[in-house]
Amino acid sequence: MPVPLLDVNAQNHAIADELRDAFNRVLESGRFIMGDEVEEFEASIASFVGAKHAIGVSSGTDAILLALMALGIGPGDEVICPSFTFFATAGCIARTGATPVFCDCHPDNFNIDFDSAQQCLTERTTAIIPVHLFGQSVDMDACSAFATKHKLAVIEDTAQSLGAKYRDKSCGAMADFGTYSFFPSKNLGGLGDGGLLVTQDEQLAEIAVKMRNHGMHPRYHHPLVGGNFRLDALQAALLNVKFGHYADYTRCRQDNAAYYLDQLSGTPGITLPSIDPGNTHIWNQFTLRVHDGKRDALKQSLLDQGIGCEIYYPVPMHQQQCFAHLADEARTSLPVTDLLASEVLSIPVYPELTREQQDTVISAIKSFV
Ligand SMILES: *Cc1c(COP(=O)(O)O)cnc(C)c1O
Repeated sequence: MPVPLLDVNAQNHAIADELRDAFNRVLESGRFIMGDEVEEFEASIASFVGAKHAIGVSSGTDAILLALMALGIGPGDEVICPSFTFFATAGCIARTGATPVFCDCHPDNFNIDFDSAQQCLTERTTAIIPVHLFGQSVDMDACSAFATKHKLAVIEDTAQSLGAKYRDKSCGAMADFGTYSFFPSKNLGGLGDGGLLVTQDEQLAEIAVKMRNHGMHPRYHHPLVGGNFRLDALQAALLNVKFGHYADYTRCRQDNAAYYLDQLSGTPGITLPSIDPGNTHIWNQFTLRVHDGKRDALKQSLLDQGIGCEIYYPVPMHQQQCFAHLADEARTSLPVTDLLASEVLSIPVYPELTREQQDTVISAIKSFV
């Protein structure tokens, strides 16, 4: 039985009538830029994560870029982020003219290691971007203590963790800014690109709202330089529909992860992902570590059997060609990141996955190792 890594059609076709109604509403309204659908979506997410302000934007990448711009990060600044992340986290830092400085992560939960971040500090460090990777929160008490001590702005890259919790708080709502992505493979997957940022700070929200639309206020007056970071009304309308089902999607992912954790427990040669005490994991990815140099062989074996799987991420940021000029021995020795890049393998955990499909994945893994 073939098992894809993700099946967006299974999710979207099941609610096709609702999505078509949303499309028709926007078509009939003739309002395609900003408007009610965007505002409704922003209000839903603000309330869901417990943030005062939510600002819909064009992508998760633009959300990070806009957050950095609103904080005034630019040339001369150094911004710390984990090396083990998707490129957008680091790319946005570089695009502002600031310098990304890469730190290591924990081998058990894949998230930023603040002891390593400590090694990255200089007098130019002005901000840090913790990434809630694969659906699980960073240790936000450690993050807050670190940021307060060193007077750093904090942007939570929450692209993979909308609704994940640290104790009773939602990821993204615990820092200066939290940024989200609605790329189709994220837990709240749109029908195209989309993103959002949240903040509790009135002044930062005002700046970000202006910068989302060319720093314009009032019309054709530009106190700030911004960009076109707007979220389409059509995308917001579709996301409003999908958000209505979000609790179900999350529960299904959690059930699927629990089944893997139970069935694969004790399998030799692999380490299963772990959930830190106090965290609510929402499983954007279910990521194994495959030991003894066998990761690539397991990947190939699964693919040969029609089972989707992928390496997130094979090339960490400190090994990327575009950042080679930043190389500096003290900063680029990131042993845990390098180890993870050689061991990780993500297997299907999407909400519509059936038990039968999961059993196929489980027996393929057990018979390999
Ligand atoms: C997906 C992702 C982004 C970028 O989001 P887009 O909507 O694709 O621009 C940023 N950071 C992380 C960690 C991501 O997974």
